[in-house]
Amino acid sequence: MSDLTTQVRAFAEERDWQQFHTPKNLAMALAGEVGELLAELQWLTPEQAAAVMEDPEAAARVRAEIGDVMIYLTRLADVLGIDLVEAALTKLDEVAVRYPVHQSKGSAAKR
Ligand SMILES: [Mg+2]
Repeated sequence: MSDLTTQVRAFAEERDWQQFHTPKNLAMALAGEVGELLAELQWLTPEQAAAVMEDPEAAARVRAEIGDVMIYLTRLADVLGIDLVEAALTKLDEVAVRYPVHQSKGSAAKR
């Protein structure tokens, strides 16, 4: 993970793009890339969406958009000084408390 952070940071620094990489701009860019990912799936049936990686051309587009999302998420976390893996693991611990297995197994109900 830190390798990716370092590479994305270097990519920005080599181009003198740090000046554009404000948290606001990066959050907006991240949302834009999530939108591009959604666009790849939005008109598919649930069955078609589940099978999207079986179509090589669609799979390449989905893979590219996931990559874009990861790059902007990584860069945003770096600029904000957030350890992405630590933040995700902390959140996972919190969600595990809110949704104990014995109460939540097989249920999509929100708490
Ligand atoms: Mg994209």
